[in-house]
Amino acid sequence: MVPKTHPRYRSLLNRDRIVEAFESGVLAKGGMIAHGRGETFDYLLGETTTPEALNAIKVTAALMVLSKNPVISINGNSVALAKDEFVKLARELNGKIEVNLFYRTTEREQKIKKLFEEDVKSGITLLGIDEADKKIPGIDHLRGKVSESGIYTADVVLVPLEDGDRAEALVKMGKTVIAIDLNPLSRTARKSTISIVDELTRCVPLITDYVVEYKKMDKLQLLKIVENYKNDENLKNTLIHISKRLNSMEI
Ligand code: ATP
Repeated sequence: MVPKTHPRYRSLLNRDRIVEAFESGVLAKGGMIAHGRGETFDYLLGETTTPEALNAIKVTAALMVLSKNPVISINGNSVALAKDEFVKLARELNGKIEVNLFYRTTEREQKIKKLFEEDVKSGITLLGIDEADKKIPGIDHLRGKVSESGIYTADVVLVPLEDGDRAEALVKMGKTVIAIDLNPLSRTARKSTISIVDELTRCVPLITDYVVEYKKMDKLQLLKIVENYKNDENLKNTLIHISKRLNSMEI
């Protein structure tokens, strides 16, 4: 148990959740390595939601409200760290969450399905397991599996911790792909339509707050939020944010 007074409370709590998810079989070994890479970039960002991330978060919320069929894709890391936050976001939208595992095994699929049992009873549609009989073109069999009413026909897909080639393949399918990825240099961040360079437990509640606010707006107002966003520019500004921060640091 991490004491709340510890200066690294939040980070240590997330580590505990990751270890627990690995021990219970929800998370693959590779997921722990991915988490470590994320922690490194979070240090460089200052463990805070940057103005650039907030910009991408607002555009994400507007796009999700405008979307006809938004789908939230989740993997082992996102379930371990922010399952309830993703459920809250899905409830403000069409309720669709799709399981998308890099290391897909039936055992891991069933463990994740069990974790969502109560959410499904109260209206969440959990896709990507039993009825995942469609395929993302160009992606190998297990990683390419998607559901017809989910990612396959989605216009907007939110993908926390996606890998680069799947993100690129989803963009090629004509989808608006929104990545949550702490690494602004990753292929995922560079190939996605929108990249939120932020830690997922910090940014998902913010997306939900903006979705709630934007649901009260009309279409024209929402299009205004989206229209001038440029992902490459936002990523460059994130790198500038990191380098300015490092340059001004006193050791
Ligand atoms: P590429 O996108 O270049 O193909 P990759 O798929 O090889 O990269 P991984 O390390 O497998 O990269 O993916 C994990 C990504 O998720 C890392 O870029 C890491 O920064 C990011 N990440 C890890 N934990 C979190 C988190 N809690 N919140 C947001 N992003 C995270």
